[in-house]
Amino acid sequence: MNCRKLIGLVADYLDGTLMLRQQEAIKTHLVRCEDCRAYLDSYKTTIELCRSLRHESNTKIHIGMPMGFARAIDRKCMSKKQML
Ligand SMILES: [Zn+2]
Repeated sequence: MNCRKLIGLVADYLDGTLMLRQQEAIKTHLVRCEDCRAYLDSYKTTIELCRSLRHESNTKIHIGMPMGFARAIDRKCMSKKQML
C-alpha cells in the first residue's frame, strides 16, 4: 500500500466494500502515514458536507478543491444519491 493507492481506494474503504486484505493494508498504512490520515479526515468531512448539501448545487462544494478530489467527491455524491 502506498499513498497513491490509498487515495484511490479511500471511497471504497469508507463504504466498507473493500476486501478484508485491502482494508488491513489501508489501516496499516494509516498508522504510519500522517498525510493519509489527514486526507482521510478531510475526505470524511467533505462527504458529510456533500450529504448536507445534496439538495443544493453540487458546484458549491468544488470551490477551492483540486480537480481530482472534486471529481472523486462527485462520484461519491452520485453513488450516495443512487443509494438513497
Ligand atoms: Zn500515505
